[in-house]
Formats: sequence, C-alpha cells, structure tokens
Amino acid sequence: MHGLMMDTQLLVSMILRHAERHHPHREIVSVTADNPLHRYTYADCCRRTRQLANALDKLGLQEGDRVATLAWNDYRHLELYYGVGGAGYVCHTINPRLFPEQIIFIINHAEDKWIFTDPMFVPLLEKIAGHTPGVEGYVVMTNDENMPETTLKNAVSYESLIGAESDEYEWPELDERAAVALCYTSGTTGDPKGVLYSHRSTILHAYAGVAPDVINLSNRDCVLPVVPLFHVNAWGVPYSALMVGAKLVFPGPKMGDGETLYGLLESEEVTLALGVPTVWLALLQYAAKAGKRLNKLQRTIIGGAAVPESMIREFQDVHDVIVHQGWGMTEMSPLGTLNSPKAGMQSLTDDESVAIAVKAGRGIFGCELRIVDDDSNELPWDGVAYGALQVRGPWVCSDYFKLEGTGGSHMEDGWFDTGDVATIDPSGYLAITDRTKDVIKSGGEWISSIEIENTAIGHPAVAEAAVIGVAHPKWTERPLLIVIRAEGQDPSKEEILAWFDGKIAKWWLPDDVVFVDELPHTATGKIKKVELRKQFADYKLPA
Ligand code: ADP
Repeated sequence: MHGLMMDTQLLVSMILRHAERHHPHREIVSVTADNPLHRYTYADCCRRTRQLANALDKLGLQEGDRVATLAWNDYRHLELYYGVGGAGYVCHTINPRLFPEQIIFIINHAEDKWIFTDPMFVPLLEKIAGHTPGVEGYVVMTNDENMPETTLKNAVSYESLIGAESDEYEWPELDERAAVALCYTSGTTGDPKGVLYSHRSTILHAYAGVAPDVINLSNRDCVLPVVPLFHVNAWGVPYSALMVGAKLVFPGPKMGDGETLYGLLESEEVTLALGVPTVWLALLQYAAKAGKRLNKLQRTIIGGAAVPESMIREFQDVHDVIVHQGWGMTEMSPLGTLNSPKAGMQSLTDDESVAIAVKAGRGIFGCELRIVDDDSNELPWDGVAYGALQVRGPWVCSDYFKLEGTGGSHMEDGWFDTGDVATIDPSGYLAITDRTKDVIKSGGEWISSIEIENTAIGHPAVAEAAVIGVAHPKWTERPLLIVIRAEGQDPSKEEILAWFDGKIAKWWLPDDVVFVDELPHTATGKIKKVELRKQFADYKLPA
C-alpha cells in the first residue's frame, strides 16, 4: 500500500521560490572582475535568474542540454546554478585551472552548447575554440561596458543577454531524477570522468548539509564559500544557503588572496567559511604577518584534503575559530562525513578533542560507509583496521556520464569504491590514511603518508610537505619526505627527522628528507603525488 502524501518533485527551483518568499532582503555580496564589492538581495537574484531562464530558452536549447560555466565564485555564477538547472538544462561547471587539453576534452565530452565565462578566461577559450566545434556561442559574464574584444563566436555580455528579458518565468515541473549539474573529476589518472547530479540528489544533499552536526547552516549565518562553485557544487552551499536564507559572500577571483579574504570575513561579519586547507594557509599566513585576529568568524569547514593539526590549533588558539573537518568527493556531491563532537565529548581535554578533530569526521545520515579488505570482507570499526572505503546513498553517483554500464565507476555490489583507504573508530569517526594509489608499502605493511605529512607540517620551519614511497631493496618501498621550507627558515634534515620522535611509529620515520622550492598541485590544490613519484623515480635513498 502506498502512502497518501503529495508526490512533490524535489527540484532546485523549489529553493528559489522559497528563498524569494521568505528571505527577499537577505544579501549576497560578491567580488567580481568589474566590481570590487557588488551587493544585491535574494529578491534581485531570483528576479535576474528568471530573466536568465527566459534568455536560455531563446537560445534554442533542448531539455537536458549542457550549458557550461568557466567562472569564479560570484552572484552571476550563482544565477547560472539556478537558471540553467531550474529551466531544465544541465549546468556544467568547468575548473579553469585544468590544463587546456583537459578543458577541450571535457567540453567535447559533455557536448556543451553554450559557455558562460568570466572575462579573464576569454583568451583561454579563444585559444581552444578551434578544438570545440560543438559550442554554439559564448556569454561573457560582465556588462557591455566591460566586454572584452573577442573572436569567440556569437559572443555577448551576460548583462545584454538577460537585460531585456521579462522577469516572469514559470519554472518547469521536471522529473526530480532529471540531471541538474555536471562536474568532471580532475582525472589524475586517465581522462576526467563526468559526475551527473540530479535535482533529487542535489536537494537531499543540501537538506543533509544544513543539519546541526553537518554544516549547521541557519538564517543567522553569513557564509563565505571559498570552495569554488566550479568544483563539486561548492559543497552544496549555493543550495543550502538559499534553503535557510543565510547571507552569502563570494570572493570572486580573489579566493587565494589572504588579505582580501581577511577583509571580507571582517567587514561582512562572516560566521562560517568553507574551503580546502591550502586557502586557509594563505589566510592564516596573512593574519600572522599582519598581526591580525579573526574577530567575527565562528567556525570553518575544511575538507578536500587532510587538515593538519597545526592548522586546527592555530584557528582555535589564535583566532578562537572552531574547525570542522569534512570528507567527500566529486562522486558524492560531495559530503560524506563531517567532524562534530558527540554527546559527552564536551568534557574532553584540549588534546583529546584535537585528536578527534584531525579525523575526517563521522558519517552523515544518507551516506552509508564501510571499510573492506582485499576480499571485500567488511572490517571492524575499531580505529585500527584499515581498508578500502566504500559508500552508498542517494547522492552518491551510480555511474559516470556516458560510461554507463562499462564498469568504469568501480561499483561493487551496490557500493561505490572511493579509492581512499581509511580506519573507522568505535565512535564512528573516519580517518583517511591514504589514497589507494598513494599508500606506501614497507615490508608488507602500510605506512600512512597523510599522517607523516601532517606531523611534518606541524614543524614551524615547514611550509608544505609531501611523502611518497620510493623503491627500497629490502623493504620494497620506504617513505621519502619532500619539504618546502617556511619563509626565512633553513632547517637541517636531522632537525626535521628529530621532530618525528614520539609522534609517529619509529618504522614510519622517513628514510630521507629533500628540500624543494615548489610542489606540483592538481587543479583543486592538492599535491600531485603521481607527478612527484615520476620526479623522484630514480631517487636513491641513503644506505
Ligand atoms: P579531485 O581532487 O580529483 O577533483 P575530489 O575533489 O573529488 O577530487 O577529491 C576527493 C578526494 O579528496 C577524496 O577521495 C580524498 O582522497 C581526498 N579528501 C577529501 N577530504 C579529505 C579529508 N578530510 N582528509 C583526507 N583526504 C580527503
């Protein structure tokens, strides 16, 4: 027997309608290429998004057609999230930091019909336009006044595209399983793969995100997503913020600039900021150098890579900001775990709390977790056993775009294999020890490169650290620590190695330390271990 409840389709346009009705005066503040501090309200956003939807319909697009964005975080990009998806098209966010060849591959694979771009990416698109013949036209996200000269076909400015359109629009009643957004994984191995989010998965993920033990977003918050809108739905914030009516602040092209971030956090009274560890490094370094303190920020959610203990302590001890670590991935929309204390943990000592805070967090309702051994046997949640981390749930991808049924998505009896190796403790806190392909195998045992890196970063003279396995005649592989020195510091190898004393298992101690000026990063700011392993392929460890 079926229940007798309304079969309301879960669509992103629902959020827009709710936001406009309940929070019309809430502000959205953006740094953009043509305005250092643009301000408008939810009501303005909703009105312009309807104008955009009318304009899109006139471009002759069919339901499900892909419309791409190549843009930083600002209000126009937000309008595209809702306008494209709400009108029944698919908003394909492209990471502008990818290599041109990858961008060409992605545009062609997605069969993008129109591309909306920030002015600064026009030269990049002009260079590759000859290789993306399927694109019918380009919209430059600016006004006519600031419109650059360009050879891109059918190029118009965003403001001229939507300016003359009616602000009345009836959002279509789509099937909630229809695709709403598309994001490609960065493809460190092989071609990038497309993850196709549905309206349903997006709404459920945003619902889960606002919960108190997850992002804990409310109407009283002012939220600054430094995590890019071009990467994994900016962790769902563009949806969850409008669900609750939080004030939004977008850093535009200035997301890597510590001084601008600091200014925005203070002047806009941001209560919650989200991003990967690298951007917080820039902010903390700026604050330390300028002798400034974060006075308004209450909490930050850091994920996308392991969060070093030293970062947690600096936020907490110097700025009185609580750090919540999160873990997830493109294929998971991305939220999988979030680190918040459980009942009874308030009485823990500072050290005990930090020992938990360095973990990736606990499972969010709606995303099941398990760890398995090589034979797919489930491993205990004892905080010791480590294995392949698998997930399932309504916002986890079931297949990659146009690779359906090819087995390319590592599905195993209904579980998605994340490619991460993890432990889960008896309280349910997950700790990522490595990517499957990055683990170091020494004498048949695994060494966690992440734990060594995080310990190394705690040394005051270390700015950034990476650990890779290099060949060893007796142990198969041994860890090599690669370090970027902090400004004005010149530590010796011996000093760095002595730092690990009592902090990690003795047999994990790196066999050698190399100092470099630069480490290779992926388009999402993570250290490119594949590249490093190539670079140090012939490295000989000291005997
Ligand atoms: P890409 O960087 O390839 O675009 P994602 O952004 O989807 O891909 O990255 C997902 C991966 O990032 C995870 O599978 C995991 O390896 C890593 N990651 C994310 N959060 C954490 C975390 N808190 N601790 C350690 N690793 C993390």
